Amino acid sequence: PIYLDYAATTPVECEVAKKMMNYLTIDGIFGNAASRSHKFGWQAEEAVDIARNQISELIGADSREIIFTSGATESNNLAIKGIAFFHQKKGKHIITSKTEHKSVLDTCRYLENKGFRLTYLTPKNNGIIDLNDLKKSIKKDTILVSIMHVNNEIGIIQDIDNISKICRDHSIFFHVDATQGVGKIIINLKKLSIDLMSFSAHKVYGPKGIGGLYVRRKPRVRLLPSIHGGGHERGMRSGTLAVHQIVGMGEAFILAKNKIHDDFIHTTKLRNSLWDGIKNIEEVYLNSDLKQGVPHILNVSFNYIEGESLIMALKDLAISSGSACTSASLEPSYVLKALGIKDELAHSSIRFSIGRFTTEEEIKHTVKLVHQAIYKLRNLSPLWEM
Ligand code: PLP
Repeated sequence: PIYLDYAATTPVECEVAKKMMNYLTIDGIFGNAASRSHKFGWQAEEAVDIARNQISELIGADSREIIFTSGATESNNLAIKGIAFFHQKKGKHIITSKTEHKSVLDTCRYLENKGFRLTYLTPKNNGIIDLNDLKKSIKKDTILVSIMHVNNEIGIIQDIDNISKICRDHSIFFHVDATQGVGKIIINLKKLSIDLMSFSAHKVYGPKGIGGLYVRRKPRVRLLPSIHGGGHERGMRSGTLAVHQIVGMGEAFILAKNKIHDDFIHTTKLRNSLWDGIKNIEEVYLNSDLKQGVPHILNVSFNYIEGESLIMALKDLAISSGSACTSASLEPSYVLKALGIKDELAHSSIRFSIGRFTTEEEIKHTVKLVHQAIYKLRNLSPLWEM
């Protein structure tokens, strides 16, 4: 099948995988980065330092502001619970949105059970958070705002610059889940007053199982750790560092930095040909926003067609209905529902996500397959004939 699920995960770039191989075996650098008494440890530590700098360079951070985690799910958990529990004497109110990733929403639900009060903002129809709604929802005891940069289902980009200013003016911590934005669109933490930011390597052509949390140093942001142990990562996340994974993430992030412009142009071109190729199909609805969204995600609904049957009819395409995490359930996407899209259309949604290795030919073939599948399914559908 043609891979069009780059928002779920990306393949590791060959040069990244090759580099990682040098940090595993007896003839490579396999030491424990925390071993301070011999060369094996120092070499591993040096490799981690280099990767930390590469990662910092992509996002405009100081290398001391990066905490390695197992991925964005853990980073989101660490950021939100870490701030909540450390600062609960200041207040117990947290603001987020209804369209966040499950790793944010489920963490927030957990905190509600621990006595915190949550406000879940409903975005506007295009998925963007209304800044006035945000301002109005701020209470005296609000300690944290957690809003994602790029939505994983529809690709909409939030105005994190203005949200960060609102948070700063109210002395509220601001956490951003930037998993889908990092390496795809420019983020410069030097110019934004973001306190915490989550990201993951496997969405940026790096390995799975490694990610990071940016934690601002000036002014210093303090967190309660979730994983206790040897005091790694300045006590915020104990556990022996996965040197090969970290090296892979560093390499992937530097590649992303060098390719960010070309990747953007490439995915924009292919996304436009895909949409141009399918937009004239009857009863097709665009759930993404071509201007205010990232180019690598295109979410559409085909009325009178069930998303799951469309995915089956399109078995030669690797695509997803709703987000990968919820596609096991037959509930319509909660993200599309929060935008006010009616159930039937939310049920018939498909997410195409494009990447560095997608070709023009693949998109042409995709357009053909989609036309064939829609024609076939609608001919079978009693609703369509009526
Ligand atoms: N946040 C967003 C917006 C995502 O798209 C994902 C990926 O599924 C995650 C968090 C979780 O990332 P990870 O797979 O690194 O835990």
